[in-house]
Amino acid sequence: MSSPLQHEPTSRTGLHLDEVRARVVAAAIAAGRAASDVTLIAVSKTFGAIEIEPALAAGQRVFGENRVQEAKSKWPSLRAGRASIELHLVGPLQTNKAREAVALFDVIETLDRPKLAAALAAEMARAGKRPRLFVEVNTGAEPQKAGVLPTVLPAFVGLCRAQHGLAIAGLMCIPPVEDDPARHFRLLAALARQVDVHDLSMGMSGDFEIAIAAGATHVRVGSAIFGGRG
Ligand SMILES: *Cc1c(COP(=O)(O)O)cnc(C)c1O
Repeated sequence: MSSPLQHEPTSRTGLHLDEVRARVVAAAIAAGRAASDVTLIAVSKTFGAIEIEPALAAGQRVFGENRVQEAKSKWPSLRAGRASIELHLVGPLQTNKAREAVALFDVIETLDRPKLAAALAAEMARAGKRPRLFVEVNTGAEPQKAGVLPTVLPAFVGLCRAQHGLAIAGLMCIPPVEDDPARHFRLLAALARQVDVHDLSMGMSGDFEIAIAAGATHVRVGSAIFGGRG
């Protein structure tokens, strides 16, 4: 019992999953919500098996990636033999990658235009696989940012449902960096009620507790778990 090694965090050095999990639970309880209402998505973009395997060993099952090609190169081997992995696409999706995205991901969070809705509907019908879909909302109406404008959201969700037979499970947003995120999270929650969807993917390393207070069902946390991306 005297080995100094037993006082080290051994194989988990550098992985801050336990701390982030504890903060998610604390934020849920502080908001009067059940901890089980909030899913922690470990955003593993830019990290490889060396960093991801310890998170899998610690029981993490929900991961986020922002690029189709990167996810395709990493996840087929990482998820082999692990049926319970849930992979979320949190980055922009080009129409010509819809087929690969449908094959790879369990949840696509970045549906944001009619052409992509059509492409996903066609691929889902072809593949017989239906990833859950979130619509990305550009809550700050930033010209350079992806996402549907809040004013256009009801019509867009209506088109997805009526024209393409797509079930919309939730909404996702990335607030402008310089703004108070709480305002954007409250807006996304109000929009979700307006278009009658349940899930809210909002909050990253710097603001996930604020998002949980505003009703987030999914928080997307990368650097607070895995460290800086350099
Ligand atoms: C990278 C990324 C995250 C995670 O960001 P961190 O600040 O590292 O937690 C969340 N959402 C999206 C869309 C991302 O691209």
